[in-house]
Amino acid sequence: MRKNRTFTMIKPDAMENGYAGLIIAHIEKAGFKLIAMKLTQLDKDSAEKFYEIHKGKVFFNDLIQYITSGPIIAAILEKENAVEDFRKLIGNTNPEEADEGTIRNMYAKSIDANAIHGSDSDENAQIEGDFHFSN
Ligand code: GDP
Repeated sequence: MRKNRTFTMIKPDAMENGYAGLIIAHIEKAGFKLIAMKLTQLDKDSAEKFYEIHKGKVFFNDLIQYITSGPIIAAILEKENAVEDFRKLIGNTNPEEADEGTIRNMYAKSIDANAIHGSDSDENAQIEGDFHFSN
């Protein structure tokens, strides 16, 4: 299968809890190659743009407040079947439902602060990667 790319963010709770290094090691161990990576922090406007699809949902304001609350690590990753395999690696959006051994199972405590983001399609991986790395 052709190698492809996905986009990830290590979110503020994981950064605050000191899990960034462990999570990156876990990602590399699973066969993902780091293509681009940066430590950054989203402001309100950027966060609202990034999560535009969720605008109007009950959790939107909490989501924006949370994702802007501290630094994140944004990264582009490469691997065969990257998007699907990375979604499996991070586990269910709700850590309580995430399979054992997944990143959210190990490093996240709640659906609001769930340690990591992974793109859900090739198209979004491209859009989200460009969002963070195109300037
Ligand atoms: P993901 O791709 O698994 O991160 O999930 P989504 O892209 O659908 O949602 C983005 C983020 O919004 C998730 O990681 C959650 O932190 C949050 N979120 C999504 N759905 C819910 C929900 O039903 N309730 C709450 N409280 N937060 C949610």
